[in-house]
Amino acid sequence: MKVSPISQLLLYSLIILAIVFSVKAESKIDFSYVGKTGPAFWHLLPNSSICLNGRRQSPIDLRSHTDLKKKFEPPCNIRVKNIVKAELVHTGTTIEVALGKEEEGEEGKGNEFLPASFTVGDETFKLLQFHFHTPSEHRIDGVHLDVEAHFVFKSQKDKISVVAVFFNIDLEGKENKFFKPILKNIPKPKEVIKIRNIGLSKIFKDIKNIQEPFTYNGSLTTPPCTEGVRWWINHKHIQSISSCQHHKLKNAIGFNSRFIQLRESDYESDSKNENYY
Ligand SMILES: [Zn+2]
Repeated sequence: MKVSPISQLLLYSLIILAIVFSVKAESKIDFSYVGKTGPAFWHLLPNSSICLNGRRQSPIDLRSHTDLKKKFEPPCNIRVKNIVKAELVHTGTTIEVALGKEEEGEEGKGNEFLPASFTVGDETFKLLQFHFHTPSEHRIDGVHLDVEAHFVFKSQKDKISVVAVFFNIDLEGKENKFFKPILKNIPKPKEVIKIRNIGLSKIFKDIKNIQEPFTYNGSLTTPPCTEGVRWWINHKHIQSISSCQHHKLKNAIGFNSRFIQLRESDYESDSKNENYY
């Protein structure tokens, strides 16, 4: 059978399209917090076996009597500006603020970063996106907090560092200004909307002079659960959120908190001391 050049061209185009779509599909993993795609089964999702096999997974229960670090290399050159324009997307499991294609980043054309950065050692991390979990994923001394925000930073060497900020419901009902533009118009699942004027400065105020933080090497808390993520958590910097704001956020994203992970040392003590229990 002779195939015409036009048919050949069509065939090649279809093959290329199929490859492009399969790559796109792979980069976005469909997961949830209940049932067959819930946290207990994330390791069965594409490229996510480390969700089960990993030994440095997040979140963990942070223990204030042993985990607060007195000696550490602090984040320096912290630069934070408020966000003028960005996109708010409902990913299906959380709401996330990031720069869209139309918005210009900190350094002009083609920059994908929001206006916040810090340096640890000789590596500079820039803010890629931030999103929320209700209740918190990390616990402090066994206790959940009401909301945990994850500010996800990336370095030039593609290393990830996350600054986690906790929020608890304010008993006097005081609103948190940071949430106002975010909760004004919450997108529906898979919807993207434009967002303006988000105040980041107050959120990062106490990171600027971080002392005795919780900082450890863990992982992403969602599939593919990639390890090598450096976490920064300032337990003295728990912010407030009004009960109305909390209700709106929780209504939009529901329960999206991965269960507490064992630490590397927990695995070691398990194998060394089998009669422990
Ligand atoms: Zn997160």
